[in-house]
Amino acid sequence: MKKAIIALDVGGTKVLGALFDDEFNIIQRKKKLTKAFDGVDKILNQISKVISKLLDTAKEADMEVVAIGAGVPGVIKDGMVLFTPNLPWNHYPLAKEIEDLFKIPVVIGNDANVSLLGEWGHGIAKDTTNTVGFFVGTGVGGGLILNSKIYTGNIGLAGEIGHITLNPDGIICGCGSRGCLESYSSKTGILKYIQSQIRHGRDCLLKDEIAEDSSDYILRSSIIKDALDKGDECMTEAIEIAAKYLGVAVASSLNILNPEMVVFGGGLVEALGNDFIDKIKAYVSLYSVPHATDNCTFKLSVLGDDACLYGALTMVEDRMADQRQ
Ligand SMILES: [Zn+2]
Repeated sequence: MKKAIIALDVGGTKVLGALFDDEFNIIQRKKKLTKAFDGVDKILNQISKVISKLLDTAKEADMEVVAIGAGVPGVIKDGMVLFTPNLPWNHYPLAKEIEDLFKIPVVIGNDANVSLLGEWGHGIAKDTTNTVGFFVGTGVGGGLILNSKIYTGNIGLAGEIGHITLNPDGIICGCGSRGCLESYSSKTGILKYIQSQIRHGRDCLLKDEIAEDSSDYILRSSIIKDALDKGDECMTEAIEIAAKYLGVAVASSLNILNPEMVVFGGGLVEALGNDFIDKIKAYVSLYSVPHATDNCTFKLSVLGDDACLYGALTMVEDRMADQRQ
């Protein structure tokens, strides 16, 4: 019987699942809403539905699912979700809950860490030894591959690049601190900047659109790209600020870790592409020590939305390799 692996990307709104065969091809995908506001049991139920469907497919194809891997938002330690901002999980033993239901070994990790693992195992960072990942979307997630291993730190907090403070007197962040990278360089930060400019009476392109939806307004990456392409001054400034703060953060990561590659992913980076990376890189060279930038390559994620799924696969492969040793 051929072996297969189930990979999951559990987000605040959606649970994505994929069934991988032993040659790393995706045999089937499955998607369900997370239903984060309906409580812990409901979320587990939604995750279970995705797994069950993929298990059915595996059975029909005469494949045996040997492990399940999942990327999850928040701080993860030994299969436990210690804390997550988007889901009602607090010291929640997610891996064990899934194992108890399906009797299949489960390994979980922070979604940004797992996405970087995906790029390292099956994407642009393949065969690198030291790589840093920046994933820019609604927030800013990060990951560190050091000496060919994901580095998660003492309690799983390592790589929280979005919450390094770049301005101690800056805007209050969702994490409770001030002036975090995420407050300037995420879509949330960009929206805050545009809103502040509208309040100051500026004629931003998105003025009417944002006013209509008020607090519920969601700034999509495609809208950011469109406003930028149309030469909107407010958006041009917001993107310049986002690139500058990302540049400062990337420069600091180069000074501390001296990686050979920095991978950029997430919805915003994917929408703006290499032009945005070039903008960030110009700031990196201003703020990093001499030679750090020249000796590092800056790359756009190649796996896009699938980075977390491929990372969950890589995590499982690594765990199985460790067990064989
Ligand atoms: Zn923060």
